[in-house]
Amino acid sequence: MSEQVAINSLAFAQDHSVLSGAVHVDSLPRLAAALMAGDVNLNYIIEGGVAVRPYLRLKLTADLPLLCHRCAQIFKWHLDTECQVWLAQNEAELDVWDKVADGLADAMLAEDKFDWQAWLEEEVLLALPVSPVHPDDGCLATAEQGKSERPNPFAVLATLKRQH
Ligand SMILES: [Zn+2]
Repeated sequence: MSEQVAINSLAFAQDHSVLSGAVHVDSLPRLAAALMAGDVNLNYIIEGGVAVRPYLRLKLTADLPLLCHRCAQIFKWHLDTECQVWLAQNEAELDVWDKVADGLADAMLAEDKFDWQAWLEEEVLLALPVSPVHPDDGCLATAEQGKSERPNPFAVLATLKRQH
Protein backbone atom coordinates (compact mmCIF):
# COMPACT_ATOMS: atom_id res chain seq x y z
CA MET A 1 0.00 0.00 0.00
CA SER A 2 1.67 3.15 -1.16
CA GLU A 3 -1.53 5.14 -0.95
CA GLN A 4 -2.08 7.16 2.18
CA VAL A 5 -5.72 6.57 3.13
CA ALA A 6 -5.80 8.59 6.35
CA ILE A 7 -4.30 11.98 7.00
CA ASN A 8 -4.13 14.26 10.00
CA SER A 9 -6.34 16.89 8.44
CA LEU A 10 -5.34 19.83 10.62
CA ALA A 11 -1.61 19.18 10.22
CA PHE A 12 -2.18 18.68 6.50
CA ALA A 13 -3.79 22.12 6.26
CA GLN A 14 -1.22 23.85 8.47
CA ASP A 15 1.66 22.37 6.46
CA HIS A 16 0.02 23.46 3.19
CA SER A 17 0.33 19.88 2.02
CA VAL A 18 -0.84 18.57 -1.33
CA LEU A 19 -1.98 15.06 -2.15
CA SER A 20 -2.87 14.07 -5.69
CA GLY A 21 -3.41 10.95 -7.74
CA ALA A 22 -6.16 8.66 -8.91
CA VAL A 23 -8.48 6.42 -6.90
CA HIS A 24 -10.06 3.42 -8.54
CA VAL A 25 -13.79 3.20 -7.93
CA ASP A 26 -13.31 -0.34 -6.54
CA SER A 27 -12.15 1.35 -3.33
CA LEU A 28 -15.39 3.33 -3.14
CA PRO A 29 -18.25 0.80 -2.97
CA ARG A 30 -21.10 3.30 -2.57
CA LEU A 31 -20.01 5.18 -5.66
CA ALA A 32 -19.34 1.96 -7.58
CA ALA A 33 -22.96 0.96 -6.92
CA ALA A 34 -24.17 4.22 -8.50
CA LEU A 35 -22.22 3.73 -11.73
CA MET A 36 -22.96 1.59 -14.77
CA ALA A 37 -19.45 0.10 -15.01
CA GLY A 38 -16.70 -0.56 -12.53
CA ASP A 39 -13.54 0.43 -14.35
CA VAL A 40 -13.30 4.09 -13.43
CA ASN A 41 -10.61 6.26 -11.93
CA LEU A 42 -11.20 9.50 -10.07
CA ASN A 43 -8.44 12.05 -10.40
CA TYR A 44 -8.04 14.14 -7.30
CA ILE A 45 -5.97 16.93 -5.84
CA ILE A 46 -6.31 17.75 -2.15
CA GLU A 47 -4.66 20.97 -1.04
CA GLY A 48 -4.31 22.09 2.54
CA GLY A 49 -3.94 25.68 3.59
CA VAL A 50 -4.84 28.35 6.09
CA ALA A 51 -6.88 31.43 5.22
CA VAL A 52 -7.57 32.69 8.74
CA ARG A 53 -9.10 29.24 9.27
CA PRO A 54 -7.42 25.99 8.24
CA TYR A 55 -9.04 24.41 5.20
CA LEU A 56 -8.89 21.53 2.74
CA ARG A 57 -9.67 22.07 -0.91
CA LEU A 58 -10.58 19.21 -3.20
CA LYS A 59 -10.50 19.13 -6.99
CA LEU A 60 -11.98 16.12 -8.73
CA THR A 61 -12.24 15.04 -12.33
CA ALA A 62 -13.53 11.79 -13.79
CA ASP A 63 -15.57 10.35 -16.61
CA LEU A 64 -18.35 8.42 -14.97
CA PRO A 65 -20.49 5.88 -16.82
CA LEU A 66 -24.15 6.75 -16.19
CA LEU A 67 -27.42 5.69 -17.79
CA CYS A 68 -29.03 8.38 -19.95
CA HIS A 69 -32.60 8.88 -18.75
CA ARG A 70 -33.71 10.00 -22.19
CA CYS A 71 -32.44 7.18 -24.42
CA ALA A 72 -31.43 4.49 -21.86
CA GLN A 73 -27.88 4.20 -23.22
CA ILE A 74 -24.77 4.34 -21.07
CA PHE A 75 -22.67 7.45 -21.55
CA LYS A 76 -19.63 8.99 -19.91
CA TRP A 77 -20.59 11.93 -17.73
CA HIS A 78 -17.72 14.30 -17.19
CA LEU A 79 -17.22 15.32 -13.59
CA ASP A 80 -15.17 18.41 -12.88
CA THR A 81 -15.79 19.74 -9.42
CA GLU A 82 -14.07 21.65 -6.69
CA CYS A 83 -14.96 22.26 -3.07
CA GLN A 84 -13.47 23.59 0.11
CA VAL A 85 -14.10 22.80 3.77
CA TRP A 86 -13.00 24.64 6.88
CA LEU A 87 -11.49 22.47 9.60
CA ALA A 88 -12.96 23.18 13.01
CA GLN A 89 -10.85 22.07 15.98
CA ASN A 90 -13.78 21.28 18.28
CA GLU A 91 -17.57 21.01 18.36
CA ALA A 92 -18.04 24.57 19.64
CA GLU A 93 -16.04 26.01 16.77
CA LEU A 94 -17.87 23.81 14.28
CA ASP A 95 -21.19 25.00 15.68
CA VAL A 96 -20.24 28.67 15.31
CA TRP A 97 -18.86 28.21 11.80
CA ASP A 98 -21.95 26.32 10.71
CA LYS A 99 -24.14 29.21 11.87
CA VAL A 100 -22.15 31.84 10.02
CA ALA A 101 -21.78 29.65 6.94
CA ASP A 102 -21.14 31.97 4.04
CA GLY A 103 -22.30 29.50 1.42
CA LEU A 104 -18.78 29.27 0.04
CA ALA A 105 -17.51 26.43 2.15
CA ASP A 106 -18.71 23.85 4.64
CA ALA A 107 -17.04 23.08 7.91
CA MET A 108 -16.03 19.72 9.37
CA LEU A 109 -14.20 18.61 12.47
CA ALA A 110 -10.46 18.17 12.11
CA GLU A 111 -9.43 14.54 12.59
CA ASP A 112 -6.13 12.82 13.35
CA LYS A 113 -7.06 10.06 10.94
CA PHE A 114 -9.20 11.72 8.34
CA ASP A 115 -10.44 9.25 5.71
CA TRP A 116 -10.08 11.48 2.67
CA GLN A 117 -11.29 8.77 0.29
CA ALA A 118 -14.67 8.72 2.06
CA TRP A 119 -14.82 12.52 1.69
CA LEU A 120 -14.01 12.26 -1.98
CA GLU A 121 -16.66 9.57 -2.47
CA GLU A 122 -19.27 11.71 -0.71
CA GLU A 123 -18.47 14.72 -2.88
CA VAL A 124 -18.82 12.68 -6.08
CA LEU A 125 -22.15 11.24 -4.91
CA LEU A 126 -23.40 14.77 -4.20
CA ALA A 127 -22.27 15.95 -7.62
CA LEU A 128 -23.96 13.16 -9.58
CA PRO A 129 -26.94 14.39 -11.61
CA VAL A 130 -30.33 13.21 -10.34
CA SER A 131 -31.50 12.61 -13.89
CA PRO A 132 -28.46 12.12 -16.11
CA VAL A 133 -28.81 12.75 -19.84
CA HIS A 134 -26.40 12.82 -22.76
CA PRO A 135 -25.18 16.17 -23.96
CA ASP A 136 -27.72 17.02 -26.69
CA ASP A 137 -25.77 16.06 -29.78
CA GLY A 138 -24.85 12.68 -28.31
CA CYS A 139 -28.30 11.50 -27.32
CA LEU A 140 -30.02 8.88 -29.45
CA ALA A 141 -33.45 10.13 -28.37
CA THR A 142 -32.61 13.67 -29.50
CA ALA A 143 -31.09 12.43 -32.76
CA GLU A 144 -34.30 10.53 -33.58
CA GLN A 145 -36.40 13.54 -32.73
CA GLY A 146 -34.20 15.94 -34.66
CA LYS A 147 -35.10 14.25 -37.94
CA SER A 148 -38.66 15.50 -37.83
CA GLU A 149 -39.04 18.11 -35.13
CA ARG A 150 -37.49 21.01 -33.40
CA PRO A 151 -35.72 20.22 -30.10
CA ASN A 152 -38.04 19.12 -27.35
CA PRO A 153 -38.23 21.99 -24.82
CA PHE A 154 -38.31 19.51 -21.94
CA ALA A 155 -35.13 17.90 -23.20
CA VAL A 156 -33.49 21.33 -23.35
CA LEU A 157 -34.63 22.01 -19.81
CA ALA A 158 -33.16 18.72 -18.64
CA THR A 159 -29.83 19.69 -20.19
CA LEU A 160 -29.86 23.06 -18.48
CA LYS A 161 -30.65 21.46 -15.14
CA ARG A 162 -27.86 19.00 -15.56
CA GLN A 163 -25.33 21.80 -15.66
CA HIS A 164 -26.19 22.95 -12.11
ZN1 LIG B 1 -29.23 9.81 -24.35
